[in-house]
Amino acid sequence: MAEYDYDVLVIGAGPGGYVAAIRAAQLGLKTACADGRETLGGTCLNVGCIPSKALLHGSEKFAEAADGTFAHYGIKTGPVTLDLEAMQAQKLDSVRQLTGGIEFLFKKNKVSWLKGYAAFEDAHTVVVAGQKVTAKNVVIATGSSVTPLPGVVVDNDAGIVVDSTGALALDRVPNHMVVIGGGVIGLELGSVWRRLGAKVTVVEFLDQLLPGMDGDVRKEAAKIFKKQGMELRLSTKVTGVAVRGKTATLTLEPSAGGTSETLEADCVLVAIGRRPFVDGLGLEKIGLDVNKRGQIETDHDFRTSVPGVWAVGDVIPGPMLAHKAEDEGIAVAENIAGLTGIVNHAVIPGVVYTFPEFAGVGLTEEAALVAADGDKTAIKVGKFPMLANSRAKTNHEPDGFVKVIADAKTDRVLGVWCIASVAGSMIAEAALAMEFGATSEDIAYTCHAHPTHAEALKEAAMAVMGKPIHM
Ligand code: FAD
Ligand code: NAD
Repeated sequence: MAEYDYDVLVIGAGPGGYVAAIRAAQLGLKTACADGRETLGGTCLNVGCIPSKALLHGSEKFAEAADGTFAHYGIKTGPVTLDLEAMQAQKLDSVRQLTGGIEFLFKKNKVSWLKGYAAFEDAHTVVVAGQKVTAKNVVIATGSSVTPLPGVVVDNDAGIVVDSTGALALDRVPNHMVVIGGGVIGLELGSVWRRLGAKVTVVEFLDQLLPGMDGDVRKEAAKIFKKQGMELRLSTKVTGVAVRGKTATLTLEPSAGGTSETLEADCVLVAIGRRPFVDGLGLEKIGLDVNKRGQIETDHDFRTSVPGVWAVGDVIPGPMLAHKAEDEGIAVAENIAGLTGIVNHAVIPGVVYTFPEFAGVGLTEEAALVAADGDKTAIKVGKFPMLANSRAKTNHEPDGFVKVIADAKTDRVLGVWCIASVAGSMIAEAALAMEFGATSEDIAYTCHAHPTHAEALKEAAMAVMGKPIHM
């Protein structure tokens, strides 16, 4: 009899876990994956990336029809009305198809799906739904959950004070939605409900939106969202939310302290970040501690400090992104199989799927300067506005720019930032270039199809040397 039931047991079937399980099975390892949810795919497929993008896409189409964008192209519509139930149904259909797709892939690759929450007994024994399961290697991929705001009670069923899961499932368009947190979730879901007719106010603690992105991008983001009709309350914190009937009253204060004021809303979205999820996992049973930020630390190979126990995805340090979790899932499986699985954490693109999209990879200008000890001559920056890009101009998409940051001596690309209707797709080229150690000259001398938005990246790369053509 084999010493263990499985070679690999993955806990959590999100992008980190399900990808690790499939890759491990592909490499010939006997693999199981446990998840407490009814369906596979984790946060991303069930209540994250996929449903949010379904509503972003649907609401963008609605706004184009309703706000005169179609008329711009000579397309006349009758009165445009919203069938929110149908929009929510198409969202659920996308989720159903994609979570079902993972179930199909598990069957195809012979990954056993264990339904239930898993808890460690020891480093090689886990209990799932009352059953003991043993494995030579256990991968923790339990993801993250919403960071609560002290004193603010989220009730997704009531639909007044909600988190992202509640904001994805609203059955009415709020009159006034206040979003607490001007990060990715706040701006994506705030955009959805603004396009569908809500007045949206974003309350952000910091003096700019989108922390972590390049300074120029953050400044431009504030301008763009204001222009779209969002009210922005920057450098402001929420100190309390009281709900009476269907109305929430928020108390706001300047972040630095000062006079407080109140704001009324019929929907409040709390989106102040996410934190690693390890509740009920029994880490104490295997002597595994989390760090100050609640994360499980790993080495470069995704090994934890406990032999045989590995971890990937949102539960470990790094950006909380599905593609980062997926790449780590592949790498951990390869490392368990004795191959060399590597993730280059310096080149992980990030995208905000609003209109326009905001995307970046590598260092911000601010971080590049810090890395150069503040020496401004150590970096070169090239920028090109979408206004001067023929395709963006033809499509009536004037907002945005591409910015390339390169090392002044070697010309190696350090970071690329982009605001454009299709920035999320454009940034893939920049990531590939950086992965191959490209210089800005390499990008500038690469032939780009015309007319495409991607030509703006070529021109921004040319601008690093000070010689774009179309500006
Ligand atoms: P998760 O996807 O969180 O999966 C963890 C799974 O583990 C869950 O299914 C959970 O039920 C299960 N689990 C936890 N504990 C146990 C246990 N003890 N036993 C069994 N199972 C357990 N990222 C992007 O890159 N692009 C996007 O567009 C994007 N949009 C997002 C939109 C929203 C609204 C949200 C909330 C997040 C979004 N993200 C996006 C982030 C993305 O969802 C996460 O980075 C990604 O899901 C992390 O994958 P993971 O596998 O680490 O964890
Ligand atoms: P976030 O970290 O992106 O933004 C949270 C914002 O809330 C920050 O700007 C922060 O300054 C602000 N904040 C914190 N406390 C506050 C307070 N008391 N009052 C006002 N503002 C406050 O977090 P998020 O938007 O909740 O998203 C969580 C995670 O999910 C992110 O790490 C992101 O990577 C991931 N996500 C990614 C995507 C995507 O890739 N498109 C989409 C959604 C979520």
